[in-house]
Amino acid sequence: MICPACNHPETKVVDSRDTNDGRAIRRRRECEKCKTRFSTYEEVEIMKLSVVKRSGEKEDYNQEKIIKGIEKSLEKRPVSEERKEKLINEIEYQIYTKGKQGEIASKEVGKIILEKLKEVDDVAYLRFASVYKSFGSLNSFKKELEKLEGEDKQ
Ligand SMILES: [Zn+2]
Repeated sequence: MICPACNHPETKVVDSRDTNDGRAIRRRRECEKCKTRFSTYEEVEIMKLSVVKRSGEKEDYNQEKIIKGIEKSLEKRPVSEERKEKLINEIEYQIYTKGKQGEIASKEVGKIILEKLKEVDDVAYLRFASVYKSFGSLNSFKKELEKLEGEDKQ
């Protein structure tokens, strides 16, 4: 998203919420260069995306689940909140770009996340790769990470 004030190409989302009628998502963004804040509105329509699982089954794209998975893999890693937020934005952007027909393969979602994590942190990448690749769904990925964490505490 280009800054309307200075045309800088890097802006970050500082807040995201549904509009009152629930038909659009309002994002508050801040320019990384001049710190100007502005809002964007995204129609819910383009937010509707189905994830096609390996079995051919479809499920609604669940943003929260994706973000939780990414955050889990970055847990206790030396990655700033800002960088994390940017990473999540980039991942989501790619998911929506590739899912133009309203559908995206779960395999593709995993690939996008893996490629982006690799750029940011090797450990997070490995954490995500080791569980995601063998389980093929973010839900089992999350469960597996929780299990790993439990083992850490012992
Ligand atoms: Zn700016």
